[in-house]
Amino acid sequence: MPHKVERWNCDYCKKHYAHKGSVTQHEKKCFYNPANKSCASCIHAMFSNYTKAPGSMCEITGTAIFQELIVNCPHWKEIKWSED
Ligand SMILES: [Zn+2]
Repeated sequence: MPHKVERWNCDYCKKHYAHKGSVTQHEKKCFYNPANKSCASCIHAMFSNYTKAPGSMCEITGTAIFQELIVNCPHWKEIKWSED
């Protein structure tokens, strides 16, 4: 029989976990958490097709991004999403 389960969602990405402690640990290092100053929340990230596909690069350093987690980047600048 199908049954409903409770999940804890990350505030920054689409990952979800069974336990609150797990999602709390994840959020601390989540690529999409602006506090980590990583590529996924940075205005300088140039996405290929707006996905995490290989080919995405940083417009400042020219290095490939999303290959590994870059945090606390000195070039990081928050994306300001317009709300319309
Ligand atoms: Zn996340």
